[in-house]
Amino acid sequence: MEIIRIPAIAPENLGEGELRKAEKLVQTLDSVGFDEIERFDAEDERVPSKKRPNIIAYYYGENKAEKLWIITHLDVVPPGEESLWTVTKPFEPTIKEGRIYGRGSEDNGQSMIASILAVQALKNLGIRPKKTVALAFVADEEQGSRYGIQHLIKQGLFKKDDLILVPDGGNENGSFIEIAEKSALWFRVRTIGRQAHASRPDKGLNAHRIGMEYALTLDKMLHKKYSIKDEYFDPPKSTFEPTKKDKNVDAVNIVPGEDITYFDCRILPNYNVEEILNDINGLAEEFEKKTGATIKIEVLQKSIAPKPTDASSKIVTMLKEAIKQTRKVEPKVGGIGGGTCAAFFRRIGIPAVVWCTIDETAHQPNEYAKIENIANDAKIYAFLMIS
Ligand SMILES: [Zn+2]
Repeated sequence: MEIIRIPAIAPENLGEGELRKAEKLVQTLDSVGFDEIERFDAEDERVPSKKRPNIIAYYYGENKAEKLWIITHLDVVPPGEESLWTVTKPFEPTIKEGRIYGRGSEDNGQSMIASILAVQALKNLGIRPKKTVALAFVADEEQGSRYGIQHLIKQGLFKKDDLILVPDGGNENGSFIEIAEKSALWFRVRTIGRQAHASRPDKGLNAHRIGMEYALTLDKMLHKKYSIKDEYFDPPKSTFEPTKKDKNVDAVNIVPGEDITYFDCRILPNYNVEEILNDINGLAEEFEKKTGATIKIEVLQKSIAPKPTDASSKIVTMLKEAIKQTRKVEPKVGGIGGGTCAAFFRRIGIPAVVWCTIDETAHQPNEYAKIENIANDAKIYAFLMIS
């Protein structure tokens, strides 16, 4: 709860970054008594401290060469609409019915604290882990990880045989092990027509109508053409969602000369993102010819899904065993639409898994973490540390 109290919002969302939270966290780590704590700051002129902190806390194992990494992120997303926070204010955590409410409680505070508790429990029992445990607390996960996990990877800290767990996604009973992610494509559709008085639409070119028609036609076309199902993923299909909409004119009696819509697409690895982008541009050209408007497609994010983690890799096998031994559920592996730190490891050929037990309240108002999940996930982490 002390950690939740300190907002760690990215400069993209007008926040001051993670430094204050990281300093508080280091105090906690000191009190647990890790063998070594390292800090790797990434320089960022946009935050007051000019630093985006990344912290690693080591608890040495009998075999120092082997490492188990548990990677959580310090940053949180902004609260969003404050009036929707009905249980408590976003950065004033409270406990209610066994849940801790507050921004960052589930994403990613729960796993952060659970990983520390696991080490603390082993220390209290005088148990040295088999392999060295390295807890990494990274910056900038919500905005692309350039100042976070990517900065750590550049330091050459990770080896091919390291075991990597990213507890930043999962399901309610802890049975879901994520080993694959979809590609992500975000783009803006800017339709330019000609503004006019609404009583004389014949003198204008209504960009809003053309923009809506284009968006709906595109929506139908993409769903129809890219409809393969892969039951490995949840949801099993590629998703193409019109999301954000920019404001157009100020008055009801103006025919809009410009219309701006956004799409968020999460694409199964079976498909080539460039081919999809060609279709999107092709349809825009067709609409331009048909209507006389100009339609510009601007790509905001394009991340191509890395090769999935091998379902028979060591970290997957160990985690399955830990789940079977400590929970009464059958673990299953699969893929999701979201992106996490794990993708950066898959890209450099190091197997990484995403797992934790959550109700999936991240990025929502009234975000919470169940206290029993913190304790039970800590048991799984401890199990992995001594196996
Ligand atoms: Zn997260």
